[in-house]
Amino acid sequence: MKSIDQHYIDGRFVASHGSEVIDLVSPTDRSVIGSVTLGDEEDARAAVRAARRAFKTYSISSLEERADYLQRLHDAIMARAPEHIAIRTLEYGGVARHNAFSIQGSAKVFLNMRKTLEEMPFRKRVGAAEVLLRPVGVAALITPWNSAIFMVCNKLAPALAAGCTVVVKPSESSALQIRLLVECIDAAGLPPGVVNVVNGRGDVVGDELTRHPEVAKVSFTGSTTVGKAVMRNAAETVKRVTLELGGKSAHIVLDDADADAAAAFALSAAFMNNGQACIAGTRLLVPEHRLAEMKAALLKASSQWKVGDPADDGSALGPLANARQFDRVQGYIRRGIEEGATLLLGGEGHPPGLEAGYFARPTIFVDVRNDMTIAREEIFGPVLSVIAYRTEDEAVEIANDSIYGLQGWISTGDPMRGKAIAERIEAGAVMVNRIFDLFDEAGVPAGGFKQSGIGREFGVYGLSEYLGTRAVFA
Ligand code: NAD
Repeated sequence: MKSIDQHYIDGRFVASHGSEVIDLVSPTDRSVIGSVTLGDEEDARAAVRAARRAFKTYSISSLEERADYLQRLHDAIMARAPEHIAIRTLEYGGVARHNAFSIQGSAKVFLNMRKTLEEMPFRKRVGAAEVLLRPVGVAALITPWNSAIFMVCNKLAPALAAGCTVVVKPSESSALQIRLLVECIDAAGLPPGVVNVVNGRGDVVGDELTRHPEVAKVSFTGSTTVGKAVMRNAAETVKRVTLELGGKSAHIVLDDADADAAAAFALSAAFMNNGQACIAGTRLLVPEHRLAEMKAALLKASSQWKVGDPADDGSALGPLANARQFDRVQGYIRRGIEEGATLLLGGEGHPPGLEAGYFARPTIFVDVRNDMTIAREEIFGPVLSVIAYRTEDEAVEIANDSIYGLQGWISTGDPMRGKAIAERIEAGAVMVNRIFDLFDEAGVPAGGFKQSGIGREFGVYGLSEYLGTRAVFA
């Protein structure tokens, strides 16, 4: 049992001004594993003051200094990687196969950004002017509970590389994971006030940060509903916003795809991170004439998706993160059945023997139409909806018929054909026959079209989000 009752402000762990305490609950067995004291508006304001003070000097630090800090942050996280992995399992229910990827990836974003710093033209002559790239100011970084550490690192790296100082408002349900990360940040020895972290509710601490006049930039990852509220608040003082929001991504199986390979790929894309991934391929578009074959292949591939204790190496799927998530996923499964979709696999309730935690049954619906709720709304659990199509044009039309535009997935026997289709998908990234390279490539941007978001993360695209131009005629 660990009680997290401090924030990290001005380079020190400080007592919370806010006094509300909430329990942290294990998703695996619903036992109380700790508690977190939630900050209030005053804690948020103290953090902004510290960040604003630190901005004066940090904003004019050299690129070499910033590169050094990025390296140190990477090293500090990796030095405690086994602890990060253990806490991710305990607090979030992350399974071994995803944890290592997520923690190494979290550390690697700092090294990737170090490389990006070398590529960025911070000074450029344009006609009679010199155009400088300058940090925009104090940045508020607001993050969700799925891949909690990765989401924070992914924003910290470009913000710090740009010369911004930050106030992080992580999800209130990731306090144990974030505390360990903050200890690593502290160990990295950045100047006081450059990174500040305040635990608290979104509608309290998050709201204060998105309205605060001294915050110049908000980078938000979370649901589309909250993203809209963040943008409305930020408009009042014309803050820059980056929004990384929800998705309902389509995975198109082309008629030349190998059924077994496509099914295995489809389940990896849909069920990764216990099905709680913004980029998950949750609508599987299958040629009508290959439907029977794909159903059989999906059932066969599903045997690889054993649900179980996330601490057990054999588990491919752990529990959903919390009670609200479990209820939400159950609600969508019920809705799918009510609206006339057919269960190929899974359904409501827990897998047998796993009633103690928030474990859901991996679920595949067939006979889904794209106008059904389960094809339109983000479920955020291991639920895949299979939709039949007749022509390639129809597949592209269905894929693009969504309010979201975060990601696309394509299975094909011909990567060049896949690439041509990929260019027609309205999404920030499209993966043809491959899954994780997105986060492995240092310079490739990620982000959404439509209601999946505004702005991009990673590489020079991500770094630019924290920079403004200043043209100097001299
Ligand atoms: P959420 O929107 O409920 O919360 C995200 C963060 O916003 C939390 O820290 C929360 O406390 C805070 N928040 C809530 N209300 C706020 C307010 N009024 N003002 C300011 N901040 C507020 O999302 P969640 O349930 O934590 O995460 C799941 C969602 O995140 C899913 O929709 C998922 O698709 C999305 N997500 C998107 C990406 C991406 O890169 N596009 C990545 C991961 C998750």
